[in-house]
Amino acid sequence: MMFTGRTQNLGVMGWPVAHSLSPVLQQAAIAAAGLDYAYIALPVRPEDLHAAVTGLRALQFRGWNVTIPHKQAIMAELDAIDAAAQAIGAVNTVVNDQGRLVGYNTDYVGCIMGLTAQGFSVQGKKAVLLGGGGAARAIIWGLLEQGAASVVVGARNAAKIAPLAVDFGRFGHIETMDWQSEAFQRALGQADLLINATPLGMAPHIDAMPPVDWANVQAEAFVYDIIYTPEETMFLRTAREHAHRTLNGEAMLAGQGAAAFHYWTGIEPDLSVMQRALHAALTKK
Ligand code: NAP
Repeated sequence: MMFTGRTQNLGVMGWPVAHSLSPVLQQAAIAAAGLDYAYIALPVRPEDLHAAVTGLRALQFRGWNVTIPHKQAIMAELDAIDAAAQAIGAVNTVVNDQGRLVGYNTDYVGCIMGLTAQGFSVQGKKAVLLGGGGAARAIIWGLLEQGAASVVVGARNAAKIAPLAVDFGRFGHIETMDWQSEAFQRALGQADLLINATPLGMAPHIDAMPPVDWANVQAEAFVYDIIYTPEETMFLRTAREHAHRTLNGEAMLAGQGAAAFHYWTGIEPDLSVMQRALHAALTKK
């Protein structure tokens, strides 16, 4: 790729960041669109966040992605935060509009894009989420914004996820519960959509999965795991063996990148190019 004096700079800020697949995703989209942009990894230690943002402002970066551990801390460094990112409580995309830094969250967009691409509409559906951490917050927002009838979040520690009902209650119907409880089993039995938002089953601990009584899940329920390594977690494999439609986390990762690309460039990227680049990088890993 040839850079010029006019090349606009983008990147992904994280610590560590060497494992990030965002450079692969974004460079594929930039090349396919024939744009004069560069996208690089930006390793930023937690204690250097403010200095890094000051530096990127000074260098007139057009924008950047934000990943672990900066997704919450970055919010204090920005001039404005869009409503979705505010509700979710995390920013994964920063846009520099002539010196004004605006924060967005595109993880929820990626989550919904993955489902939409499978022909699954969230509107009016009952969703059950396993796990209530950072990724779950983006998913909950996406589901409620898309008009899900209800979202039930189950986790091993009900007290820890109780704030989710407070934070998101004004956007729709949400309940939190212990995933071992009878109430959760009832919710599971009514679910149209079941999502794993825990790291259970992620490599290298591929033999783990959240506790689900599959006999209790409706045959038509769509099963989604946001993990993408391995390609098929034990959770998804079990769902497939029970004849459920399934989806892994690759589409969510590609989708969040596509939405960020659109914020920076104003151009709709070729999602299939991004997905292919991502899949190739994951297969090589
Ligand atoms: P997180 O904030 O740490 O939350 C993880 C959730 O899973 C919490 O509710 C946690 O419960 C629960 N959990 C963790 N370990 C557990 C265990 N051993 N047993 C039972 N519950 C457990 O993590 P996150 O950022 O939400 O990420 C969750 C997963 O999503 C990760 O695998 C990540 O790679 C994936 N992800 C994928 C994408 C994508 O684009 N595809 C995007 C973001 C995240 P406790 O609070 O009780 O520990």
